[in-house]
Amino acid sequence: QVLNEFLQLKGNIRVFCRIRPTVNGEKFSHKRPVVPVDSSGILVNFAENKRKLYKFDMVLHPGSTQDEVFSEIEPVIKSALDGYNVCILAYGQTGTGKTFTMEGNPDCPGVVPRTIEALFKQAADSNHTYLFSFCMLEIYLGQLKDLLIPHARKTTDPMPPCLSIQTDPNGGIVIDNLVAIQVSNFNHAISLYRLGSQLRSTASTNSNKVSSRSHCMIRVSMTCSDATERRKITNKIWMVDLGGSERVLKTKAWGRRFEEGKAINLSLSALGDVINALQRKNSHIPYRNSKLTQVLKDSLGEDSKTLMLVHVSPKEEDLCETICSLNFALRLR
Ligand code: ADP
Ligand code: MG
Repeated sequence: QVLNEFLQLKGNIRVFCRIRPTVNGEKFSHKRPVVPVDSSGILVNFAENKRKLYKFDMVLHPGSTQDEVFSEIEPVIKSALDGYNVCILAYGQTGTGKTFTMEGNPDCPGVVPRTIEALFKQAADSNHTYLFSFCMLEIYLGQLKDLLIPHARKTTDPMPPCLSIQTDPNGGIVIDNLVAIQVSNFNHAISLYRLGSQLRSTASTNSNKVSSRSHCMIRVSMTCSDATERRKITNKIWMVDLGGSERVLKTKAWGRRFEEGKAINLSLSALGDVINALQRKNSHIPYRNSKLTQVLKDSLGEDSKTLMLVHVSPKEEDLCETICSLNFALRLR
C-alpha cells in the first residue's frame, strides 16, 4: 500500500510530446499549426479563431537536441537498476521522427544506444554485479518475429516461424524461443542492435517501408545477483519504435497495405486502452487484446515505469493526424 502511494506520487506513466523540426527544405504556409507554449504545453491552431491547449508531462520542442531529450529520459532509465521494469515507447504518424528519437543516426545517436551506454556505465559504477542480455523482435501483422535470427524476408516469402507468448506462474511473460544474447559491453550490444536494424530494413523496399507498419521492440534485461540475500533479481527495459499511427481508412491503402495498417491501428488502440485502464486503476486491464500489450504485460503496470513519447509533425497538411496523436496522448494521462 505504501509502495503504491509512493508510485502514485511519483507517477509511473509519463507522456512527453516531441515536435519534429522542419527537415529536408520543407516549406510552410505562414500559419504554424502546432506551437509549443512552455515546457509542458502545446497550442494547436485548428482554424482562425479555434485553438486548443494540450498539456503533457514534458514538451520537447523542435529545437531539442538528442542530448537534451535523453537527459529528460535518463531518470526513467535509471529506475531499471532500482528494481523497476521500464518501457519507453515512440508513438506517432510515419515521418514524425520516432526512429530518429529511438535509433538516431551516427552523428546524433538516439535513445537506444544512449540507454545501453548509460546502463553499462551505471552498472560499472555500482557495487552490485549485473548481467545484461539483449533481444530484438518485431510485431508484423500481429505476429512476433525475432530480429536476431537472420531470415531474409520478402513480402512474397512464406512467413518465418513466429514466436509465441506464455505467462509464467508469477504473472511474468515468457516469449518462447526468443533469442536473448548475453552482452558484456556497449559495443557488443550495439553490434547486435545494428544486426537487428539491418534485418528490419532489408526486409522492406523503398516504396514499401514495412518498418512503418511493424512495431520494433528492443529488450535489455539486467540480472543483479544479491550475494547477501542469495537471490537474483531481473529487470528489463523495453524500447519500442511503434508502427505509424496514421489511420488506415484515411490512407488509400488496399490489400496487404490495408491489412498491415489495420493491424497497427488495432494494436495501438489496444495499447491506449491498457494504459488508460492502468491510469484509472481499473480491476481489469485488457492486455490480451493485442500481441503488443501481451509482450509488454509485465512492463506496463504497477511495478513499472512507462514513458510514452508522442511525436507530431510541424506541417499543416498533417494537422488531422497530429490532432489524433494528441487526443491519443490525452487518454493516457
Ligand atoms: P518515423 O520513424 O516516425 O517514420 P523518422 O525518424 O524516419 O520518422 O523521421 C523522418 C525524417 O525526419 C528523417 O529523415 C529524420 O532524420 C528526420 N527527423 C526526424 N526528427 C528529427 C529531429 N528531431 N531532428 C532532425 N531530423 C529529424
Ligand atoms: Mg520509423
